[in-house]
Amino acid sequence: MDKLLKVINSPASGCGSCHTTTCGTCTTEAPKSEVRPTFSRRDLGRAVLAASVSTLLIGCSDKASTEKAVEAAPAAPALSPDLAVVQQSKGPIITTLEEFYKMGPGPSSSHTMGPMRITYDFFQRVSKLPEDQLKRATALKVHLFGSLSATGKGHGTDRASLAGLLGKAPATCPPEFLDGLANNPDEVHKVTIGPTTLNLTLKDVIFDATKGEFHHPNTMTAKLLAGNETLYELEYYSVGGGFIEWKGYKPPDKGQPKYIFEHARDLKKYLIDDKIPLPKLLLVNEMAISGKSEKDIWEFIDQVTEVMVRGVDTGLSVESVLPGPIKLHSKAAAMQRNLKNTAKGEAGRAVTRVASYGFAMGEENARGHIIVTAPTAGSAGIIPAVVKSLRDLKTSQEKIREGFLAAAAIGYLCKHNATLSGAEGGCQAEVGVGSSMGAAMIAQALGAGPKVVSNAAESALEHHLGMTCDPVAGYVQVPCIERCAYGAVKAWTAYCIASEEIPEERRVDLDTTIDAMSLTAKEMNSKYKETSEGGLAVSVVLC
Ligand code: SF4
Repeated sequence: MDKLLKVINSPASGCGSCHTTTCGTCTTEAPKSEVRPTFSRRDLGRAVLAASVSTLLIGCSDKASTEKAVEAAPAAPALSPDLAVVQQSKGPIITTLEEFYKMGPGPSSSHTMGPMRITYDFFQRVSKLPEDQLKRATALKVHLFGSLSATGKGHGTDRASLAGLLGKAPATCPPEFLDGLANNPDEVHKVTIGPTTLNLTLKDVIFDATKGEFHHPNTMTAKLLAGNETLYELEYYSVGGGFIEWKGYKPPDKGQPKYIFEHARDLKKYLIDDKIPLPKLLLVNEMAISGKSEKDIWEFIDQVTEVMVRGVDTGLSVESVLPGPIKLHSKAAAMQRNLKNTAKGEAGRAVTRVASYGFAMGEENARGHIIVTAPTAGSAGIIPAVVKSLRDLKTSQEKIREGFLAAAAIGYLCKHNATLSGAEGGCQAEVGVGSSMGAAMIAQALGAGPKVVSNAAESALEHHLGMTCDPVAGYVQVPCIERCAYGAVKAWTAYCIASEEIPEERRVDLDTTIDAMSLTAKEMNSKYKETSEGGLAVSVVLC
């Protein structure tokens, strides 16, 4: 608690994967222990997509109209078995940091981050075409299909796609640039590719067929044209969680981890018996799997840190009504401002400060600005709030790097043995896992031993079990933003408890709680799995 209270007194420096319209980082893998004899993952994907499309189209959370629209919604196309994301198999954990902490625009990893990564990939490909071909180029066009076309308007898929096409990197694109694209839809933007400069507008991103025989519900094509002639074209898929594939995609080869683990109990031998520090274990594995150097890995974590802290600072400095039908007013800046004159006392100020950081990044996600999935877009406010509060404590970047590795370990375990997707497991899988990662990060960064790190993660996850996903109007705002604030505060609470108790006396271990999350995910009614068919989504009436 002392550590938490220090957060209050430090000055603020300013502050899944799913197929749906919301925030998930769906791996398209069912929870490991899950058995679904009557309702397959593909069925779930269809239901989720249909419900999300309907909710967005009607733009109102009235229960009767939502149910009617869900009934009337078309079935989504099946996922192609050719997709690498469908072919993924189980085995030792080989997820890498770059796959896990993905940077790009919110609010949806599949509908904004994925499309921007796709068009930026296309921009880079065409930039390498022979000069004689580029000299003939007259236009760049993007066609959105399926769910991207049906729901892309509400999620800013077009502006994210245009930004990538204009050569803006997803990790570093300034928020003002993205806002400018949205606020001035007719503005002409110039992009130079080799010897040619092309004029692009939002109209070059075309909302095409919503129904058809697509490889994936989130299909898009990008073309370089010379008049009516296509010089270069590629079909892409935003397969969820910000991951992208394209026609003929082959997943990159990976090395084998030095320290093989699938469960927290597998780590025990390395961490407790062999006394290998958790960050070192993760670092060695990351180098073995990804082939990257230690320097590359630290640089990546430092970039993630900066994107997160910048996002929180921006969120704390802006007040606005967030995009979409809810007309939700941002809160982070006011919470910070009022801290100076509050009568809340130390505890109240500590909680308010941490919560304001969670709000700040959650609101940035809702604005469609650059976020980092941790583990998803909807839960993207939690780890930045934790990082910011650790910085308030003057925690060194070296320790924060170690915290990122510990947090990743928790995320990997949850991904591998349960799910990170609200569409598969409800919000326990997104905000619950984010909070659990945050607790591990705090414990690791503040020098706790492996048992305390594990207990802190367990505690945070345990107290999110059963939390449903029911975003109002299908937007990642209510309850998502406030949940990020709670997730960050609960991360601190979990650390405070774990660091004060006798570690060996904790009754529930991390593997048990991850298994409980998997079981709860399996048994949770599909109304509470990102379909906007239940809970808050049908209780809050907007019109
Ligand atoms: S309720 Fe939770 S799981 Fe659902 S969209 Fe919001 S943050 Fe994601």
